[in-house]
Order: sequence, then C-alpha cells, then structure tokens
Amino acid sequence: MFGHLLRMTSADVAIDLGTANTLVYMKGHGIVLDEPSTVAVAAVRGKRQVLAAGKGARPVLGHTAAVRPLRDGVIADFEVAEGMVRHFIRKAHRWRRFASPLAIVCVPSGSTAVERRAVQESVEGAGARTVLLIEGPVAAAIGAGLPVTGPSGSLVVDIGGGTTEAAVISLGGIVCSRSMRVGGDEMDEAIVSYVRRSHNLLIGKGTAERVKVDIGAAAPSGGADDGPWQEVEGRDLVDGALCKIVVSQRQIAESLVGPVAAVVEAVRGVVENIPPELAADIMDKGIVLTGGGALLRRMDHVLREATGLPITVAEQPLRCVALGIGRALEDMKHFRTALSSANLGSGGI
Ligand code: ADP
Ligand code: MG
Repeated sequence: MFGHLLRMTSADVAIDLGTANTLVYMKGHGIVLDEPSTVAVAAVRGKRQVLAAGKGARPVLGHTAAVRPLRDGVIADFEVAEGMVRHFIRKAHRWRRFASPLAIVCVPSGSTAVERRAVQESVEGAGARTVLLIEGPVAAAIGAGLPVTGPSGSLVVDIGGGTTEAAVISLGGIVCSRSMRVGGDEMDEAIVSYVRRSHNLLIGKGTAERVKVDIGAAAPSGGADDGPWQEVEGRDLVDGALCKIVVSQRQIAESLVGPVAAVVEAVRGVVENIPPELAADIMDKGIVLTGGGALLRRMDHVLREATGLPITVAEQPLRCVALGIGRALEDMKHFRTALSSANLGSGGI
C-alpha cells in the first residue's frame, strides 16, 4: 500500500515550452527531458492523433505529418500542443503512473492574456494539477544566476527559435521589455531564400539550420577571407536535379542581416527605455544573452557595437530558461514575486 502510494507520488515540474525545444525540469532531479517541440500527427478516422513527440517525431512515416505546435513563442495548435505536453510530462515521469503534478511554465513577456491562458489550459489538459506561469525573461535571468529578486537591475536577451525577448528585470519582475517575433527560424528561412536567390537551389530548413549552426555568424569576421565554407545539398530550381554547392561564412552572415538587425532593434528598444535609476547597474553589468540564438558566432560582438554595453553569453544558453524555472520551482517562496507577476490574471498564488 505504502509502496503503491510512493509510486503514485509525483515530482512537480518546470516546463520551458519553446518554439524549437521543450525542456522539463523535475523537482529534486534537475532537467530530465530536452527535446524538439515537434509532434508526429496522423489522421485516424478523421481525428488527429499524436503518435510521437520530440526526438521520436522526427522521421516522418507514410501518412503522418511532423507538426510544430508553437509558432513565434505561442501556441498555434492547441490540441497538438496539449498532446505534446502530455507526452513529455509522462516521459519525464518515466511512463510511471503519476499523481497530477504542479507545473510552472514560462510564457513570452510579449504574449497576450489569451495566449497565456492557452498555455495554462493546455498544460492543465495534459495532466497538471495546477499551472503557474512565469515570464520567460525572468526565468532566463534566474537561470543565468542574475540577482533577480533584489532592487538592482539586470538586462537579459533571449534569442529563441521564434522570438527574441529583451527585458530589464528588477525586484522579481519586468521593468521594461521588447518582444520580437524573430529568432532562429527566421534566420533559417533567410538562409533558404539566400541560397534560392543566388544559386537557384532549393534547400530544406533543416539543411539551413545545420549551416547556420556549423558556420553561421551574425557578422562576417573582420578579416579579408570569407571564413569557413560548407557544402549544402538541394534541388536545382532550373532543371530539378539534385546538386551540391558550397557557401561561405561571409555569405551566410550577409544573408542573416535582416533577422540580426531585428534582434538589435529589440535590444536597442529596451536599452533606450532603461529607467535612469537602473542605468548604472546595467552599464556596469551589461547584457546577458540566453537562448539558442546566443550561440550564433559574433552575436555578442554585434550587440556590443550596437549598444556600447558589455555582453556576456550565459553558460548554458539552451538550458538557461529551464534551469531558471527549475530554481523558481525549488524555492517558490523566494521567487514568489516572479511567480505572481505572470499570474495576476489567474488570481496569483
Ligand atoms: P526556443 O526557446 O524558442 O525553443 P531555443 O532557445 O531552444 O529556442 O533555441 C533554438 C534556436 O537556436 C533554433 O533556431 C536553433 O537553430 C538555434 N541554435 C541552436 N544552436 C545554435 C548555434 N550554435 N548557432 C546558432 N543558432 C543556434
Ligand atoms: Mg526559449
């Protein structure tokens, strides 16, 4: 009986529900799941069913389709998002039966009340007992080890798959923020269209992402050469043949000018609105970059040039938000202001 109860107890979870990746942190255990936010969906007797989610959803078989239920940081397909979260919560609990956990989930600072409610309801629908929300940039700042709850100011910039969020944080909440629906996905698309325009070659988004990660940069290196080169495969738009070309880091950097400029604009927008009493803190500590886009070569350099502020890339940019929500979950009392500010509409905690 006691053993049965033990098996039924469940660890509460912190979920970073990202456009590109979802991470689950389990109380007392740390990050237990880190998978792409992708779902394999099939139509079974006219109803859509989630066949697999995350890593397992990548190979597309027969009549299934791979769907990403989030777009631009918010839920675009409610049903599929709920199925994906249910799958991830169960997997995090290693498929054992579990009592409904408490879940803390982050939401983009620029999301509307309706978009936040969709996150809350989908995670409730996926089996959580209670869902608390936390602002993404606050979670990122906690994860980066910044003094979030104190009176000093911190500036974090999270560059994710679908969004870039820049925010000044003090006393556990957001003082000012800018959210742009531009991120790594837009960079991949910029590479696809560059290769199509300049080489008449159609490449997949996955290929574009690989080139971006392998040799991409936010700006060309100052040197005279074009930087490293990489082969990319695609289909020739003129004769339909499959073929291979090489692209250079300089070409990729040039194709990323638009999305990088949008990131810079978001950051500038926040820097221009820093309240004077926090200016000294931010000038001293500078900006901390998180999210996968923080790993793009010379992103820090471009932002340093644009703002004149020191730039630091967080230690684990891709895990920073999940670690931050996890810390809030481990010590909810200490982070209560951070948790209540995102939950005002739902009665707080
Ligand atoms: P989200 O929180 O929106 O799910 P993530 O913070 O997980 O996003 O970041 C995912 C994005 O980061 C993807 O667009 C991915 O291509 C990009 N990314 C990951 N690693 C790198 C890298 N080394 N260089 C550039 N971009 C990267
Ligand atoms: Mg994110």
